Amino acid sequence: MSNGIQPKRIALFGSTGSVGSQALEVIAANPDRFCAEILTAQSNDDLLIRQALHFQPNIVVIGDERKYQHVKNALAKTDIKVFAGEKALEEVAAMDCYDMMLAAIVGFAGLRPTLKAVENGKAIALANKETLVVAGDLVMQKAIEKRAPIIPVDSEHSAIFQCLVGETRNRIEKIVLTASGGPFLGKKPNYLVNVKRDHALQHPNWSMGAKITIDSATLMNKGLEMIEARWLFDIKPEQVQVLVHPQSIIHSMVQFEDGSIKAQMGLPDMKLPIQYALAFPQRIPNAFPRYDFRKPGQLTFEEPDTKTFRNLVLATDALFRGGNLPCILNAANEIAVYAFLRNRIGFLDMTDLIERTMDHVPIIEKPTLEEYFESDGEARNFAASLIKL
Ligand code: NAD
Ligand code: MG
Repeated sequence: MSNGIQPKRIALFGSTGSVGSQALEVIAANPDRFCAEILTAQSNDDLLIRQALHFQPNIVVIGDERKYQHVKNALAKTDIKVFAGEKALEEVAAMDCYDMMLAAIVGFAGLRPTLKAVENGKAIALANKETLVVAGDLVMQKAIEKRAPIIPVDSEHSAIFQCLVGETRNRIEKIVLTASGGPFLGKKPNYLVNVKRDHALQHPNWSMGAKITIDSATLMNKGLEMIEARWLFDIKPEQVQVLVHPQSIIHSMVQFEDGSIKAQMGLPDMKLPIQYALAFPQRIPNAFPRYDFRKPGQLTFEEPDTKTFRNLVLATDALFRGGNLPCILNAANEIAVYAFLRNRIGFLDMTDLIERTMDHVPIIEKPTLEEYFESDGEARNFAASLIKL
């Protein structure tokens, strides 16, 4: 920076994804503030190579070991260190060479590297909500113990976090999580039964990775976000409320004990919460388009249709019952979304699969980390066994 401070060294876990690549745009726009120290990808070796050549990180990790040689060869003329495999993700997360991890891997796979960074006292910009859904109690406990700040990237949680700045001594009465309602807002089961993957992948307001786009269409995304909010902000399950707001301008709200409500607003653009998390506690200027209240348009609100979108009921159940149930819900959902994306099961089958898995896997009230991993595996196996070959 112009005042002589070194740029913050960011480790982008999941750099080739939707959040990861938008974070690289933010870094590229602010080279005096941020640099990309570590880039990781699962299988998109070509994009990882392009990103590495452009940003010149210290380290890259390719998850899929079969692609190691290709990445290694492509970067042979540089000083960039190349590692491969799942274990390498954790080893790199434990290294000293970076200041903040952007946790932008999708799904359960993000848990181990994120937890490793927390154990090493690193600041986390958290996009990977599944980490908190699966093991929020253990992750937050570790973060407090190691004084590792966790700054949310998820737009709703970033909104709540921003509303809470300066309010540390004031009790939260309620959190209102806004939901766009996704592409099938207002639709009923007789319509949803025939929905196919390509239709479900069209989100009205946000362009995101495939898994979260399906989660938004089924409302599981909001369910996962209720659980994420419970851990991030240390609130009780009954303090989280979901409200459908199709325009996605109010990103979420906090109601305090005096009844006062604070909201954070803006156009839907993930670069804003990403930038906020990377730069926190500072706000930095940008040229993103602004929301204009004078332009004709309405902000509307409605109750979610939980009779149609039953995933929200299942997630609420997991939120209230706790233990390993959110972990089971998450694992079954990952299998369900994967199968739906491959046209193996229908849209409404996803909910049935999750419900049956939640009924089947034994409940553990206070799981250890190992027990979370076991429950995840058991739930995946059972959910997969329900899908006909
Ligand atoms: P994405 O599918 O676009 O990208 C996922 C990234 O994770 C890729 O870089 C991929 O290589 C990597 N990855 C995938 N599987 C992996 C594995 N098994 N091991 C290691 N790395 C793996 O996903 P996304 O939309 O960028 O979402 C990332 C996370 O951020 C998710 O948890 C999502 O819920 C959350 N999030 C995303 C958005 C958004 O706008 N996309 C908004 C809020 C929260
Ligand atoms: Mg969100």
